[in-house]
Amino acid sequence: MDGSQDDLDKVLAWENQMMFDLHSHTLASDGKYSPTDLVNYAKKKKVDVLAITDHDTCSGVEEAIAAGKECGVHIVSGIEISTMWRGNQIHIVGLAVDIHNPELNELITTQAEKRLVRAKEIGAKLEKCGFADAYERTKAMAAEGASITRGNYAAFLYSLGVAPTIDKCFQLYLGSNCRAFVKSNWGTIADAINAIKAAGGIAVLAHPRRYDMNNKWLRNLIKDFKECGGEGIEVSGAMQAPAEREFLVALSKEYGLMASCGSDFHREKPYLDLGGNLSIPENASPIWHHERFKLEA
Ligand code: AMP
Ligand code: MN
Ligand code: MN
Ligand code: MN
Repeated sequence: MDGSQDDLDKVLAWENQMMFDLHSHTLASDGKYSPTDLVNYAKKKKVDVLAITDHDTCSGVEEAIAAGKECGVHIVSGIEISTMWRGNQIHIVGLAVDIHNPELNELITTQAEKRLVRAKEIGAKLEKCGFADAYERTKAMAAEGASITRGNYAAFLYSLGVAPTIDKCFQLYLGSNCRAFVKSNWGTIADAINAIKAAGGIAVLAHPRRYDMNNKWLRNLIKDFKECGGEGIEVSGAMQAPAEREFLVALSKEYGLMASCGSDFHREKPYLDLGGNLSIPENASPIWHHERFKLEA
């Protein structure tokens, strides 16, 4: 490769054939599958490059890399960090992070301590609703040392037959204003971005349309995110109308952010699958062109 137009064309042709899914969950947080099973499922779904981005932990990444080497799926080491911004829970995905970096692991430890306290408080509230040993039983459904999120509790309630879908269980007990809701006290977006960058990674604003905020607030968030050193934004997600993708691409260009795509897969759902409906429009700048983007397998 000598950087000629010919080489560039070859790279672009290679990329066009690759399917990237850069946001997914395993049993290390609130996903249904172990890292190995998720990677094998990605192979089945023809995903070529999969980022493992569990909530506030990288503990599923090494197993996923080993599984990816076995079956030929490239793995990107990632994380999804919970933050608070002006009273809103904002998720920041870190891609291509060094999972052993001390600064990142310091943040992971702090998040784990906060998650433990909050998960026990949620469990206590669910006990009052009649679900005995809710924390212990929910924890038992995830991997050893997993991040326990409201998603885990929703899956636990679903396993008891509380409602016909996990989403409905969530809406009944765990959403804001529900009986088992507990406020979180995550750190700032700057804390998360700094830790991701210290670990050599790329900070990406996750699912920008899922924060229940109007466009003015969303722009303020993106502006702050960029000023704090954020470098990417998810423009392509599952279950997304074409106009929404175009809008997010326009925002990515306006604020000088690179474009990412991810299903945010936790488990199969109608209209949501690993790798499903994901591509980066041609007029956007794909995150895998970032100089620090790298595959671990
Ligand atoms: P937490 O970080 O503990 O507040 O939990 C957030 C997780 O809960 C998300 O990553 C989703 O997996 C899950 N979640 C959030 N909203 C919903 C919803 N409406 N229905 C089902 N799961 C949800
Ligand atoms: Mn989740
Ligand atoms: Mn999220
Ligand atoms: Mn997610």
